[in-house]
Amino acid sequence: IEKEAGDLNTVIRELLPLMWADANLRGQSIAFYAYEQLPRIAMNSREIKQLILNLARNGMEAMDDRGELRIETDLVDGEVVMRIGDTGPGIPADRLDKLFEPFYTTKSKGTGLGLSLCLSIAERHHGRIVVDSVEGKGTTFSVIFEQMSTNEET
Ligand code: ADP
Ligand code: MG
Repeated sequence: IEKEAGDLNTVIRELLPLMWADANLRGQSIAFYAYEQLPRIAMNSREIKQLILNLARNGMEAMDDRGELRIETDLVDGEVVMRIGDTGPGIPADRLDKLFEPFYTTKSKGTGLGLSLCLSIAERHHGRIVVDSVEGKGTTFSVIFEQMSTNEET
């Protein structure tokens, strides 16, 4: 896929109005905490937007009307990290390994395709996704992007 050096914070900021509109309808809030010195990453911005919107939508769908979605960027050991955390019910430990399987859903009208798409997108960006969930507290999905090489060609 085609990739260009891009700034993840900029992409998130472009999507915030859309995500805020969605959250507003649900009575929820969204906060964005940007790590401002974030290095650029090789990205297909169309795919990265899909990744962000899918994770944000899942977070909102998991929360009630007092929910708070927290989006963060960070730099950890030289790697660009994006975290999307919710204050939903969390995910039981024995279901964590099923999440990324195509068609796995617990929603009456779910497709179960969102997270499998997210995983493919992360992998096409040489990234990985880590899930941290505490039952009764919430869930955080972290996408960790490998540092961009100086002559990235894809
Ligand atoms: P869908 O949203 O269509 O159900 P996904 O692939 O996006 O499909 O998600 C699969 C399942 O993973 C969901 O049905 C839900 O059970 C679980 N899940 C995903 N994100 C969260 C979250 N933030 N909190 C709790 N459960 C989640
Ligand atoms: Mg989904």
